[in-house]
Amino acid sequence: MQRIAIGIDLGGTQVRAALVDERGNLIARCEERTDAQGGPDRILAQIRGLADELVATSKPSAIVGIGVSAPGPIDTVAGIATSIPTLSGFTDFPLREELQKRFSFPVSLENDGIAAAIGEWQFGAGKGVDNLVYVTVSTGIGGGVVSDGRVLRGRKGMAAHIGHMSVMPNGEPCPCGNRGCFEAYGSGTAFTRRARAWAAEHRSTTLGKSGAEIHSRDVFSAARSGDSLANQLIEEEAEILGRGFTSLIHIFSPDILVMGGGLSNEFDRLQPGIRNYIKEWAMPGFKDVELFRAALGQNSGLIGAAALAFLSENIRLDLPLINADH
Ligand SMILES: [Zn+2]
Repeated sequence: MQRIAIGIDLGGTQVRAALVDERGNLIARCEERTDAQGGPDRILAQIRGLADELVATSKPSAIVGIGVSAPGPIDTVAGIATSIPTLSGFTDFPLREELQKRFSFPVSLENDGIAAAIGEWQFGAGKGVDNLVYVTVSTGIGGGVVSDGRVLRGRKGMAAHIGHMSVMPNGEPCPCGNRGCFEAYGSGTAFTRRARAWAAEHRSTTLGKSGAEIHSRDVFSAARSGDSLANQLIEEEAEILGRGFTSLIHIFSPDILVMGGGLSNEFDRLQPGIRNYIKEWAMPGFKDVELFRAALGQNSGLIGAAALAFLSENIRLDLPLINADH
């Protein structure tokens, strides 16, 4: 019988749900806007509603479990959300227990960066690899690490909050409350903020003339039409990411780096610059680590959450936790 898992990707703007098979294929999916101000009961009702919608389309006996990816940091050892900045009311909230109360399937809970890393490792760009670092560059920067063929979770399961590496004393403010984090310089939000500031100072350029609120896609499109300011902004972004990625390469010695998130839509434009900085700044022996675009696109976390259900099922059956295709 075909085995299926339910994956849930709880984000600040969307709650997405999917039925996923053991090969990582999406069989069915649905989503709705997150009621970010609605509080935990409302969010849990949204998750339950989407899952019920999916279960109605399949044989419930085929479903092995449900995996939930949520914005962290979440203590996944205790199952408690200490605080979720993008969702109100999740303060010291027993998220896993409350989820489990609502489902007859076993529930797994994961920090979103780790869930996405698992998705790419099991079914995406990192298939068959034992060491990878996944980085999502979007509104913020997050990530997850697979090391020696195991998911790195660390104390409280909160490892790999890559965006909050401190890179600058008294630097730019970060949503985490600190200053000078990698995220405060390299995220899509930071990129857009720089683009708006530069455009205001250079009114004669295409970017400066555009007048409207600039988004990252406007910078890339101006760059494609030869705008030198836009190209300079992109080179700077590639340098910031390249330097951060070089630190990750030195710390984890991954076989590959995988980049996901909104800015990875412009991967082809950013990749050569990032590669150059890695080549320049990585120590000999680390310079040849390749960077790939997330193969599952915006579904890394959704599929990774479902993969959790298969992986935790293997733990319960006491089977070795190995990559499915090995
Ligand atoms: Zn921070």
